[in-house]
Amino acid sequence: MDITQSNKGDNKICFEGYIMYTGSCTRKKNIWWKCSEKGSRYYRGSLSTTPDLDNPEPGPQPHNHAADHINVTYTKCRNLMRQQAASSLDKPSQIFAQAVANQDHAVQKRFPCEENTKRSL
Ligand SMILES: [Zn+2]
Repeated sequence: MDITQSNKGDNKICFEGYIMYTGSCTRKKNIWWKCSEKGSRYYRGSLSTTPDLDNPEPGPQPHNHAADHINVTYTKCRNLMRQQAASSLDKPSQIFAQAVANQDHAVQKRFPCEENTKRSL
């Protein structure tokens, strides 16, 4: 399980190929995470963790779609680039080139054209 951040800085959890975010469903002992799969109004996947974001346990309802490990890697790479762009003096084009060069080809294909990505850093 990995923690990553959304564009707004909220925590997201990457777990077994699914990306989960917190809804407004924090219960007393556990945080409940919802699937972030877009375009699926009927997703059921959920995950609970402790408040320390530990001990992940899938909820009773399985995801209604396949895990997407490439998407998880891609999302984490995008977040890393954004953090580097915010904290270093490197040009976005350098950050982009370095980050993408380290990824598998399958992940590289997920990136939109370079110009779009640089502009969004
Ligand atoms: Zn899901």
